[in-house]
Amino acid sequence: MASIDTFSFRGKRTLVRVDFNVPLNEKLEITDDTRIRAALKTIRKISGDGGKVILMSHLGRPKGGPEPKYSMAPVAPHLAKLLNQPVLFAPACVGPDAHDVINRMNDGDVALLENLRFHKEEEGGDEFFAGQLAELGDTYVNDAFGTAHRAHASTAVIARFFPGAKMFGYLMEDEVSALDKVMRNAAHPVTAIIGGSKVSSKIAILENLLSKVDNLIIGGGMAFTFFRALGGNTGNSLVEEDKIPLAAELLNKAKEKGVKVLLPGDSVIADRFAVDATVAASESLNIPAGWMGLDIGKNAVSDFRACILQSRTVLWNGPMGVFEMEPFATGTLDIARALAEATAGGAFTLVGGGDSVAAINQFGLAGDVSYVSTGGGAMLEALEGRELPGIAAIRG
Ligand code: AMP
Repeated sequence: MASIDTFSFRGKRTLVRVDFNVPLNEKLEITDDTRIRAALKTIRKISGDGGKVILMSHLGRPKGGPEPKYSMAPVAPHLAKLLNQPVLFAPACVGPDAHDVINRMNDGDVALLENLRFHKEEEGGDEFFAGQLAELGDTYVNDAFGTAHRAHASTAVIARFFPGAKMFGYLMEDEVSALDKVMRNAAHPVTAIIGGSKVSSKIAILENLLSKVDNLIIGGGMAFTFFRALGGNTGNSLVEEDKIPLAAELLNKAKEKGVKVLLPGDSVIADRFAVDATVAASESLNIPAGWMGLDIGKNAVSDFRACILQSRTVLWNGPMGVFEMEPFATGTLDIARALAEATAGGAFTLVGGGDSVAAINQFGLAGDVSYVSTGGGAMLEALEGRELPGIAAIRG
Protein backbone atom coordinates (compact mmCIF):
# COMPACT_ATOMS: atom_id res chain seq x y z
CA MET A 1 0.00 0.00 0.00
CA ALA A 2 1.38 3.42 -0.97
CA SER A 3 1.85 6.03 1.75
CA ILE A 4 1.02 9.70 1.25
CA ASP A 5 4.16 10.78 3.06
CA THR A 6 6.59 9.03 0.74
CA PHE A 7 4.61 9.15 -2.51
CA SER A 8 5.62 11.81 -5.04
CA PHE A 9 2.58 13.53 -6.54
CA ARG A 10 4.63 15.67 -8.94
CA GLY A 11 2.80 16.19 -12.24
CA LYS A 12 -0.04 13.86 -11.21
CA ARG A 13 -3.74 14.67 -11.13
CA THR A 14 -4.75 13.46 -7.67
CA LEU A 15 -8.38 12.92 -6.77
CA VAL A 16 -8.87 13.44 -3.06
CA ARG A 17 -12.08 12.38 -1.32
CA VAL A 18 -12.46 14.76 1.60
CA ASP A 19 -15.24 15.31 4.12
CA PHE A 20 -16.23 18.93 3.57
CA ASN A 21 -19.75 18.34 4.84
CA VAL A 22 -19.64 21.59 6.83
CA PRO A 23 -22.53 23.46 8.45
CA LEU A 24 -23.71 26.57 6.54
CA ASN A 25 -25.97 29.35 7.81
CA GLU A 26 -28.82 30.96 5.84
CA LYS A 27 -26.36 33.29 4.10
CA LEU A 28 -24.43 30.17 3.01
CA GLU A 29 -21.51 31.08 5.26
CA ILE A 30 -19.50 28.28 6.84
CA THR A 31 -20.16 28.29 10.59
CA ASP A 32 -17.61 25.61 11.54
CA ASP A 33 -14.64 24.80 9.30
CA THR A 34 -13.06 22.06 11.43
CA ARG A 35 -13.51 19.49 8.68
CA ILE A 36 -11.87 21.71 6.07
CA ARG A 37 -8.91 22.39 8.35
CA ALA A 38 -8.55 18.66 8.99
CA ALA A 39 -7.76 18.10 5.29
CA LEU A 40 -5.20 20.91 4.90
CA LYS A 41 -2.15 18.77 5.62
CA THR A 42 -3.05 16.34 2.83
CA ILE A 43 -3.83 19.13 0.36
CA ARG A 44 -0.59 20.96 1.15
CA LYS A 45 1.51 17.84 0.73
CA ILE A 46 0.12 17.00 -2.72
CA SER A 47 0.21 20.57 -3.95
CA GLY A 48 3.68 21.12 -2.43
CA ASP A 49 4.97 18.10 -4.37
CA GLY A 50 3.78 19.79 -7.57
CA GLY A 51 0.67 17.66 -7.97
CA LYS A 52 -2.78 18.81 -9.08
CA VAL A 53 -5.22 18.47 -6.17
CA ILE A 54 -8.78 17.66 -7.22
CA LEU A 55 -11.05 17.68 -4.17
CA MET A 56 -14.41 15.95 -4.04
CA SER A 57 -16.95 15.79 -1.22
CA HIS A 58 -20.61 15.67 -0.36
CA LEU A 59 -22.46 18.38 1.54
CA GLY A 60 -25.82 17.98 3.25
CA ARG A 61 -28.49 15.63 2.05
CA PRO A 62 -29.58 16.61 -1.46
CA LYS A 63 -32.16 14.28 -2.93
CA GLY A 64 -30.08 12.98 -5.82
CA GLY A 65 -30.12 16.16 -7.94
CA PRO A 66 -28.65 19.69 -7.79
CA GLU A 67 -29.99 21.95 -5.01
CA PRO A 68 -28.38 25.41 -4.69
CA LYS A 69 -28.40 25.34 -0.89
CA TYR A 70 -26.15 22.28 -0.95
CA SER A 71 -23.65 23.60 -3.49
CA MET A 72 -19.96 23.19 -2.58
CA ALA A 73 -19.30 26.63 -4.14
CA PRO A 74 -19.03 28.56 -0.81
CA VAL A 75 -16.29 26.17 0.32
CA ALA A 76 -13.87 27.14 -2.48
CA PRO A 77 -13.15 30.76 -1.36
CA HIS A 78 -13.01 29.67 2.28
CA LEU A 79 -10.45 26.98 1.46
CA ALA A 80 -8.51 29.44 -0.70
CA LYS A 81 -8.15 31.71 2.34
CA LEU A 82 -6.95 28.86 4.56
CA LEU A 83 -4.45 27.67 1.94
CA ASN A 84 -3.47 31.14 0.87
CA GLN A 85 -3.75 30.10 -2.77
CA PRO A 86 -6.57 30.17 -5.34
CA VAL A 87 -9.02 27.26 -5.47
CA LEU A 88 -10.76 26.56 -8.77
CA PHE A 89 -14.38 25.47 -8.62
CA ALA A 90 -15.89 22.97 -11.06
CA PRO A 91 -19.70 23.34 -11.29
CA ALA A 92 -20.08 19.57 -11.73
CA CYS A 93 -18.20 16.58 -10.38
CA VAL A 94 -18.22 14.58 -13.64
CA GLY A 95 -18.53 15.31 -17.35
CA PRO A 96 -17.29 18.25 -19.49
CA ASP A 97 -17.72 20.88 -16.71
CA ALA A 98 -15.33 18.93 -14.50
CA HIS A 99 -12.88 18.07 -17.30
CA ASP A 100 -12.70 21.70 -18.50
CA VAL A 101 -11.61 22.96 -15.09
CA ILE A 102 -9.09 20.17 -14.59
CA ASN A 103 -7.59 20.73 -18.05
CA ARG A 104 -6.87 24.32 -17.03
CA MET A 105 -4.94 23.31 -13.89
CA ASN A 106 -1.20 23.76 -13.52
CA ASP A 107 0.99 21.65 -11.27
CA GLY A 108 0.43 22.65 -7.63
CA ASP A 109 -3.10 23.97 -8.29
CA VAL A 110 -6.14 23.04 -6.22
CA ALA A 111 -9.66 22.51 -7.58
CA LEU A 112 -12.93 21.61 -5.85
CA LEU A 113 -15.69 19.66 -7.58
CA GLU A 114 -19.42 20.24 -7.06
CA ASN A 115 -21.35 18.12 -4.54
CA LEU A 116 -21.03 14.41 -5.29
CA ARG A 117 -24.53 13.77 -3.96
CA PHE A 118 -26.09 15.83 -6.75
CA HIS A 119 -25.90 12.41 -8.46
CA LYS A 120 -27.89 9.62 -6.88
CA GLU A 121 -25.25 7.22 -8.24
CA GLU A 122 -22.85 8.42 -5.52
CA GLU A 123 -24.77 6.88 -2.62
CA GLY A 124 -25.82 3.99 -4.83
CA GLY A 125 -22.16 3.03 -5.23
CA ASP A 126 -22.62 3.02 -9.00
CA GLU A 127 -19.61 1.63 -10.83
CA PHE A 128 -20.10 3.66 -14.02
CA PHE A 129 -20.28 6.90 -12.02
CA ALA A 130 -17.18 5.88 -10.04
CA GLY A 131 -15.45 5.33 -13.40
CA GLN A 132 -16.45 8.83 -14.56
CA LEU A 133 -14.91 10.28 -11.40
CA ALA A 134 -11.81 8.10 -11.81
CA GLU A 135 -11.21 9.55 -15.31
CA LEU A 136 -10.40 12.87 -13.61
CA GLY A 137 -7.31 11.61 -11.80
CA ASP A 138 -4.15 9.52 -12.02
CA THR A 139 -4.00 8.89 -8.27
CA TYR A 140 -6.68 8.46 -5.59
CA VAL A 141 -6.42 9.57 -1.97
CA ASN A 142 -9.16 8.96 0.59
CA ASP A 143 -9.10 11.43 3.48
CA ALA A 144 -12.78 11.25 4.41
CA PHE A 145 -13.00 9.20 7.59
CA GLY A 146 -16.49 10.60 8.27
CA THR A 147 -17.89 8.60 5.35
CA ALA A 148 -15.57 5.58 5.58
CA HIS A 149 -18.49 3.41 6.74
CA ARG A 150 -20.37 4.00 3.48
CA ALA A 151 -19.74 1.96 0.33
CA HIS A 152 -20.35 4.95 -1.93
CA ALA A 153 -18.95 5.54 -5.42
CA SER A 154 -16.34 8.09 -4.26
CA THR A 155 -15.37 6.41 -0.99
CA ALA A 156 -15.01 2.74 -1.88
CA VAL A 157 -15.99 1.76 -5.44
CA ILE A 158 -13.63 4.26 -7.08
CA ALA A 159 -10.56 2.69 -5.45
CA ARG A 160 -10.84 -0.27 -7.88
CA PHE A 161 -9.81 2.06 -10.70
CA PHE A 162 -6.49 2.87 -9.02
CA PRO A 163 -4.95 -0.53 -8.23
CA GLY A 164 -1.40 0.74 -7.73
CA ALA A 165 -2.10 4.38 -6.94
CA LYS A 166 -4.54 4.58 -4.02
CA MET A 167 -3.77 5.59 -0.47
CA PHE A 168 -5.06 7.19 2.72
CA GLY A 169 -4.66 10.92 3.33
CA TYR A 170 -3.06 12.07 6.59
CA LEU A 171 -6.33 12.42 8.50
CA MET A 172 -7.48 8.97 7.47
CA GLU A 173 -4.06 7.52 8.34
CA ASP A 174 -4.32 9.02 11.83
CA GLU A 175 -7.85 7.69 12.34
CA VAL A 176 -6.93 4.20 11.12
CA SER A 177 -3.80 4.08 13.22
CA ALA A 178 -5.69 5.25 16.34
CA LEU A 179 -8.33 2.57 15.76
CA ASP A 180 -5.68 -0.11 15.24
CA LYS A 181 -4.02 0.87 18.52
CA VAL A 182 -7.27 0.04 20.30
CA MET A 183 -8.87 -2.71 18.22
CA ARG A 184 -5.97 -4.61 16.64
CA ASN A 185 -2.70 -4.22 18.49
CA ALA A 186 -3.56 -2.65 21.82
CA ALA A 187 -1.16 -2.53 24.75
CA HIS A 188 -2.82 -4.20 27.76
CA PRO A 189 -4.49 -3.59 30.11
CA VAL A 190 -7.19 -2.16 27.85
CA THR A 191 -10.14 -0.29 29.34
CA ALA A 192 -13.24 0.82 27.47
CA ILE A 193 -15.51 3.43 28.99
CA ILE A 194 -18.97 3.29 27.49
CA GLY A 195 -21.67 5.75 28.45
CA GLY A 196 -24.57 7.64 26.97
CA SER A 197 -28.27 7.25 27.26
CA LYS A 198 -29.22 3.89 25.85
CA VAL A 199 -28.00 0.30 25.97
CA SER A 200 -29.93 -0.40 22.78
CA SER A 201 -27.68 1.82 20.65
CA LYS A 202 -24.49 0.32 22.10
CA ILE A 203 -25.26 -3.42 22.15
CA ALA A 204 -23.04 -4.30 19.20
CA ILE A 205 -20.20 -2.19 20.59
CA LEU A 206 -20.43 -3.76 24.04
CA GLU A 207 -20.47 -7.28 22.58
CA ASN A 208 -17.51 -6.62 20.32
CA LEU A 209 -15.49 -4.99 23.09
CA LEU A 210 -15.93 -7.97 25.40
CA SER A 211 -13.37 -9.86 23.34
CA LYS A 212 -10.91 -6.94 23.22
CA VAL A 213 -10.77 -5.33 26.65
CA ASP A 214 -9.69 -6.21 30.18
CA ASN A 215 -11.98 -3.68 31.88
CA LEU A 216 -15.34 -2.35 30.81
CA ILE A 217 -16.57 0.78 32.54
CA ILE A 218 -20.27 1.46 32.04
CA GLY A 219 -21.68 4.88 32.92
CA GLY A 220 -24.40 7.27 31.82
CA GLY A 221 -28.10 6.51 31.59
CA MET A 222 -27.43 3.04 30.21
CA ALA A 223 -25.95 1.88 33.54
CA PHE A 224 -29.44 1.79 35.07
CA THR A 225 -30.61 -1.00 32.81
CA PHE A 226 -27.66 -2.99 34.20
CA PHE A 227 -28.64 -2.09 37.78
CA ARG A 228 -32.12 -3.44 37.12
CA ALA A 229 -30.54 -6.63 35.79
CA LEU A 230 -28.78 -6.84 39.17
CA GLY A 231 -32.10 -6.45 41.00
CA GLY A 232 -31.59 -2.81 42.03
CA ASN A 233 -34.14 -0.04 42.54
CA THR A 234 -33.59 2.66 39.95
CA GLY A 235 -36.45 5.08 40.72
CA ASN A 236 -37.22 7.22 37.70
CA SER A 237 -33.81 6.71 36.09
CA LEU A 238 -33.64 5.93 32.42
CA VAL A 239 -34.20 2.17 32.00
CA GLU A 240 -34.92 0.18 28.86
CA GLU A 241 -37.18 -2.49 30.33
CA ASP A 242 -36.93 -4.72 27.28
CA LYS A 243 -33.12 -4.69 27.44
CA ILE A 244 -32.83 -5.87 31.06
CA PRO A 245 -32.32 -9.54 30.05
CA LEU A 246 -29.70 -8.49 27.54
CA ALA A 247 -27.86 -6.47 30.18
CA ALA A 248 -27.85 -9.58 32.40
CA GLU A 249 -26.52 -11.64 29.51
CA LEU A 250 -23.74 -9.12 28.81
CA LEU A 251 -22.69 -9.26 32.48
CA ASN A 252 -22.54 -13.06 32.28
CA LYS A 253 -20.55 -13.01 29.07
CA ALA A 254 -18.10 -10.56 30.62
CA LYS A 255 -17.62 -12.93 33.57
CA GLU A 256 -17.03 -15.88 31.22
CA LYS A 257 -14.43 -13.93 29.30
CA GLY A 258 -12.72 -12.62 32.41
CA VAL A 259 -13.59 -9.00 31.64
CA LYS A 260 -13.96 -6.86 34.75
CA VAL A 261 -17.11 -4.73 34.55
CA LEU A 262 -17.21 -1.51 36.57
CA LEU A 263 -20.58 0.09 37.15
CA PRO A 264 -20.96 3.39 39.05
CA GLY A 265 -21.53 2.40 42.69
CA ASP A 266 -23.06 5.77 43.48
CA SER A 267 -24.93 8.39 41.51
CA VAL A 268 -25.87 12.04 41.55
CA ILE A 269 -29.67 11.95 41.68
CA ALA A 270 -32.26 14.60 40.93
CA ASP A 271 -35.99 14.96 41.53
CA ARG A 272 -36.53 16.17 37.96
CA PHE A 273 -34.73 16.15 34.60
CA ALA A 274 -33.87 19.84 34.82
CA VAL A 275 -30.92 22.10 35.41
CA ASP A 276 -32.54 23.57 38.55
CA ALA A 277 -33.68 20.23 40.02
CA THR A 278 -33.04 19.33 43.65
CA VAL A 279 -29.88 17.22 43.72
CA ALA A 280 -28.69 14.52 46.15
CA ALA A 281 -26.30 11.57 46.31
CA SER A 282 -27.41 7.93 46.34
CA GLU A 283 -26.20 4.38 46.00
CA SER A 284 -26.94 3.43 42.41
CA LEU A 285 -28.57 0.14 43.39
CA ASN A 286 -31.02 1.91 45.67
CA ILE A 287 -32.35 5.09 44.14
CA PRO A 288 -35.41 6.38 46.03
CA ALA A 289 -38.77 6.38 44.27
CA GLY A 290 -39.38 9.61 42.37
CA TRP A 291 -35.64 10.33 41.89
CA MET A 292 -33.43 9.70 38.89
CA GLY A 293 -29.69 9.20 38.43
CA LEU A 294 -28.25 11.86 36.14
CA ASP A 295 -24.51 11.55 36.79
CA ILE A 296 -22.02 9.16 38.32
CA GLY A 297 -21.17 9.87 41.97
CA LYS A 298 -17.89 10.69 43.74
CA ASN A 299 -17.02 7.10 44.63
CA ALA A 300 -17.69 5.97 41.07
CA VAL A 301 -15.35 8.67 39.79
CA SER A 302 -12.56 7.50 42.06
CA ASP A 303 -13.11 3.80 41.11
CA PHE A 304 -13.15 4.62 37.41
CA ARG A 305 -10.17 6.91 37.71
CA ALA A 306 -8.08 4.24 39.43
CA CYS A 307 -8.92 1.77 36.68
CA ILE A 308 -8.12 4.30 33.93
CA LEU A 309 -4.75 5.15 35.50
CA GLN A 310 -3.78 1.47 35.58
CA SER A 311 -4.52 1.04 31.87
CA ARG A 312 -2.16 1.32 28.93
CA THR A 313 -4.97 1.75 26.41
CA VAL A 314 -8.25 3.57 27.05
CA LEU A 315 -11.20 3.99 24.73
CA TRP A 316 -13.96 6.38 25.66
CA ASN A 317 -17.37 6.57 24.01
CA GLY A 318 -20.38 8.23 25.61
CA PRO A 319 -20.79 10.66 28.52
CA MET A 320 -21.07 9.55 32.18
CA GLY A 321 -24.06 11.81 32.84
CA VAL A 322 -26.19 14.58 31.44
CA PHE A 323 -23.08 16.69 30.82
CA GLU A 324 -25.08 19.33 28.91
CA MET A 325 -26.50 20.45 32.29
CA GLU A 326 -23.89 21.89 34.65
CA PRO A 327 -25.02 20.08 37.84
CA PHE A 328 -24.62 16.71 36.07
CA ALA A 329 -21.41 17.39 34.12
CA THR A 330 -18.91 16.67 36.91
CA GLY A 331 -18.62 12.91 36.36
CA THR A 332 -17.95 13.33 32.65
CA LEU A 333 -15.45 16.14 33.34
CA ASP A 334 -13.60 14.06 35.96
CA ILE A 335 -13.37 11.10 33.58
CA ALA A 336 -12.03 13.41 30.85
CA ARG A 337 -9.42 14.63 33.36
CA ALA A 338 -8.50 11.04 34.26
CA LEU A 339 -7.99 10.32 30.57
CA ALA A 340 -5.71 13.35 30.29
CA GLU A 341 -3.76 12.13 33.34
CA ALA A 342 -3.43 8.62 31.87
CA THR A 343 -2.22 10.12 28.59
CA ALA A 344 0.43 12.17 30.39
CA GLY A 345 1.53 8.91 32.04
CA GLY A 346 2.07 7.22 28.67
CA ALA A 347 -1.25 5.48 27.98
CA PHE A 348 -2.85 5.61 24.55
CA THR A 349 -6.27 7.23 24.87
CA LEU A 350 -8.87 7.44 22.14
CA VAL A 351 -12.10 9.43 22.38
CA GLY A 352 -14.55 8.50 19.69
CA GLY A 353 -18.13 8.89 18.69
CA GLY A 354 -20.63 11.70 19.15
CA ASP A 355 -21.23 13.07 22.61
CA SER A 356 -17.95 12.17 24.28
CA VAL A 357 -16.17 14.14 21.55
CA ALA A 358 -18.54 17.08 22.18
CA ALA A 359 -17.84 16.73 25.93
CA ILE A 360 -14.05 16.68 25.66
CA ASN A 361 -14.16 19.71 23.37
CA GLN A 362 -16.52 21.51 25.76
CA PHE A 363 -14.04 20.91 28.61
CA GLY A 364 -11.09 22.11 26.50
CA LEU A 365 -9.27 18.80 27.03
CA ALA A 366 -9.17 17.52 23.44
CA GLY A 367 -5.46 18.36 23.22
CA ASP A 368 -4.67 16.31 26.35
CA VAL A 369 -5.72 12.88 25.07
CA SER A 370 -3.91 10.85 22.41
CA TYR A 371 -6.58 11.10 19.74
CA VAL A 372 -10.08 12.49 19.27
CA SER A 373 -11.83 10.90 16.33
CA THR A 374 -13.51 13.10 13.73
CA GLY A 375 -15.92 10.43 12.49
CA GLY A 376 -19.05 9.78 14.55
CA GLY A 377 -20.88 7.05 12.64
CA ALA A 378 -17.71 5.62 11.13
CA MET A 379 -16.07 5.33 14.55
CA LEU A 380 -19.14 3.62 16.05
CA GLU A 381 -19.23 1.04 13.26
CA ALA A 382 -15.52 0.38 13.68
CA LEU A 383 -16.04 -0.16 17.43
CA GLU A 384 -18.77 -2.64 16.55
CA GLY A 385 -16.03 -4.61 14.80
CA ARG A 386 -17.34 -3.95 11.30
CA GLU A 387 -14.94 -3.53 8.44
CA LEU A 388 -15.32 0.00 7.02
CA PRO A 389 -15.65 -0.08 3.19
CA GLY A 390 -13.61 3.11 2.75
CA ILE A 391 -10.71 1.58 4.66
CA ALA A 392 -11.00 -1.89 3.14
CA ALA A 393 -10.99 -0.43 -0.40
CA ILE A 394 -7.60 1.15 0.16
CA ARG A 395 -6.07 -1.72 2.13
CA GLY A 396 -7.41 -4.48 -0.11
P1 AMP B 1 -25.90 8.65 23.38
O1 AMP B 1 -26.41 9.50 22.27
O2 AMP B 1 -26.62 7.37 23.58
O3 AMP B 1 -24.39 8.49 23.37
O4 AMP B 1 -26.22 9.46 24.70
C1 AMP B 1 -25.76 10.74 24.94
C2 AMP B 1 -26.75 11.42 25.85
O5 AMP B 1 -26.92 10.64 27.02
C3 AMP B 1 -26.33 12.79 26.31
O6 AMP B 1 -27.17 13.73 25.72
C4 AMP B 1 -26.53 12.75 27.82
O7 AMP B 1 -27.20 13.87 28.33
C5 AMP B 1 -27.40 11.51 28.02
N1 AMP B 1 -27.23 10.92 29.35
C6 AMP B 1 -26.08 10.59 29.95
N2 AMP B 1 -26.34 10.11 31.18
C7 AMP B 1 -27.67 10.13 31.35
C8 AMP B 1 -28.54 9.77 32.42
N3 AMP B 1 -28.05 9.27 33.57
N4 AMP B 1 -29.86 9.92 32.24
C9 AMP B 1 -30.35 10.42 31.09
N5 AMP B 1 -29.58 10.78 30.05
C10 AMP B 1 -28.25 10.64 30.17
